[in-house]
Amino acid sequence: MTTGAALLRDLPPRVLSWYAAARRDLPWRRTRSPYRIWLAEAMLQQTRVGTVIPYYARFLKRFPTLAALAEAPLDDVLAVWAGLGYYARARSLHAAAREVVRKHKGRVPRGLADLLALPGVGRYTAGAIRSIAFNLPAPILDGNVTRVLCRLVGIEANPKASATQKRLWSLAEELVPEGHARDFNQAMMELGAVVCTPKAPACGTCPASDLCEAFRLGLQGALPRMPAWKPVPHYDVGLGLVWRRRKLLIAKRPPNAMLGGLWEFPGGKREGAEPLAETVRREIKEELGLDVAVGELFVSVKHAYSHFRVTLHAFHCQCPRGRPRPVRADAVKWVRVEDLSRYPFPTGSLKVIRKLRALCLTER
Ligand code: SF4
Repeated sequence: MTTGAALLRDLPPRVLSWYAAARRDLPWRRTRSPYRIWLAEAMLQQTRVGTVIPYYARFLKRFPTLAALAEAPLDDVLAVWAGLGYYARARSLHAAAREVVRKHKGRVPRGLADLLALPGVGRYTAGAIRSIAFNLPAPILDGNVTRVLCRLVGIEANPKASATQKRLWSLAEELVPEGHARDFNQAMMELGAVVCTPKAPACGTCPASDLCEAFRLGLQGALPRMPAWKPVPHYDVGLGLVWRRRKLLIAKRPPNAMLGGLWEFPGGKREGAEPLAETVRREIKEELGLDVAVGELFVSVKHAYSHFRVTLHAFHCQCPRGRPRPVRADAVKWVRVEDLSRYPFPTGSLKVIRKLRALCLTER
């Protein structure tokens, strides 16, 4: 019997009974609401379970239904999402909720084509909604399932290559047992998250070790073979804490830019060996048409995005006169430090805001 045939026959019942006994009790596993399951899947992309749990609870408290999310302004949605990162997920979810209300009378569709037509919904999210919410026999392939399948079958090719992806998707599809898609797909993700982990798979406790090609060959630590790691670029960014009458100037990023719709302190990337204070002065002039006097450095904080890292250097600036014009921003506002929490900021800026709050408390 081939590995594939043994897997198709034996894997689903093994993984299902292991999951029944070992599954973690997570908030999104206590519901069958397609909206709540969809939200969890959106939040869990690139983000750890422990980080997501409090955000998930806060988000549902503020937007308990898809209709409530669709009715809310995007600013409110981004404010609740602030700190979780990958803000395109929040923007897409909000746009998709509006689309579901408009086109599907507020009911999340079950059909693959209808789901794929929604903003931000790809094959993975559609598969998760169809299988976990509706128990339809739809495959899912995330990082955890990819790792488990590559090891079980002994796939040595780059898992991100399109031919491998095609092979993995068809295998995932063949494996889903009729009538048990909900639990089987979650079981495969759970197996990857807690047993078949990237660095030290616990093969001794794995319900599928006797079916696993990587375990048989002693390759479990080597598979999947990921493409060579590329160094991540780093940028220095100068920000201006522009003060006027105890208020700070903030600017809203254009909707189509990275972190679109979020607020930030004005500034930008350092050019060459330019002094950082000059970066701040130049960027604020270009972005808002405003002349500022750059003072002392307040704080430098580091932040990592998916494809690059930044160090944000925030300088106190004075600007007694002049009206900021949002040349390269969507809007500008003067706000008090205690009111900054009303605006959605990206995670790097939130680190600066925490320091500002601490400064204001010590000055009181
Ligand atoms: Fe992963 Fe080891 Fe189980 Fe194979 S036997 S699926 S490598 S945990």
